[in-house]
Amino acid sequence: MCDDFTIISGPCSAESEEQLIKTASELKTLVNPSYFRAGVWKPRTRPGSFEGVGSKGLVWLKRIQKEFDMPVITEAGCASHVEKILKHDIRSFWIGARTVANPFSVQEIVNASDEKDITVFVKNPVHPDIELWTGAIERFMAAGIKNVYAIHRGFYPYEKTHLRNIPRWEIPIELARRFPGIKIICDPSHIAGKVEFLQEISQRSIDLNMCGIMIESHFNPVQALSDKDQQITPAALKEMLAKLSFRSVKVDSNDYRSKLSDIREKIDVIDYQLIDMLEHRFRLVDEIGNLKKSHNVTILQLERWKSIVESRLNYANPDNISREFLLRILQMIHKESIQRQNDLFEKD
Ligand code: PEP
Ligand code: MN
Repeated sequence: MCDDFTIISGPCSAESEEQLIKTASELKTLVNPSYFRAGVWKPRTRPGSFEGVGSKGLVWLKRIQKEFDMPVITEAGCASHVEKILKHDIRSFWIGARTVANPFSVQEIVNASDEKDITVFVKNPVHPDIELWTGAIERFMAAGIKNVYAIHRGFYPYEKTHLRNIPRWEIPIELARRFPGIKIICDPSHIAGKVEFLQEISQRSIDLNMCGIMIESHFNPVQALSDKDQQITPAALKEMLAKLSFRSVKVDSNDYRSKLSDIREKIDVIDYQLIDMLEHRFRLVDEIGNLKKSHNVTILQLERWKSIVESRLNYANPDNISREFLLRILQMIHKESIQRQNDLFEKD
């Protein structure tokens, strides 16, 4: 649960001392973020584009931290990065999506973090594997690092979408279930890839009770050396923040509480009915499996499957249940039914 809302902002990459100072000074006066971010080592998927200014960027960040009285944060991709970051009196860093995918690298970074009074932000891995995200967080926690946050930056889209990375909101929700105390920050910049979707994604993350946002900003985004399509000016960030609606998790109203618990009781009953019905359906699926086996016929009966999909989609009222959702449920049930019959066929 969040007791405060963390705002992290700053450019994708540190490009020059002047760029950092201009951006930081605008951010400080307009937004006053909790952290100023800038990557000094940039993990580019392919070589040949701007790979960051390296360690000299840490000197600039250290100066910003002191002059603007604003904690700074940068990305650590290996043990030597952590050593250099800490040597420059920077007490927070994030682990990028490409690094989290490699437990060897994560463990090396954990081992290099010999100071415990630091703040580490662990991004989700590029691919939607919650175990890697969970594992990286567990490694930092097990090492006694005081403040460990998670950053949700979306996942590689296997199909073309309007977003750079797909949010798969159910994954950070599952992470929150696994680590009830952890604060999850959303990174709408890397999810959106474009300025126009930042507002909507930020609002969505607030509605899901995330504890902050990391938004890339640059005093002059068109000249940014990396991720220029997703960076906004500090002034645009201020405007965007003003339009967000913040919500509370709980409300002190008896009327709300009693209505909510009445409806939830009904939902509980329906959930158990759904489970009973599914169990009943699978018993019938097993009966059919035995029948098919004894008559030596294929498990998949395409005509039957086509008619199930068509009749169920026609039956449902699309105002109450979307066709896409119903199709997904039918596919899941069908997949499980085939698996059960497969298991029966393999039993001798
Ligand atoms: C970044 O924050 O600039 C970055 C490289 O992020 P990610 O690791 O999420 O791609
Ligand atoms: Mn970036």
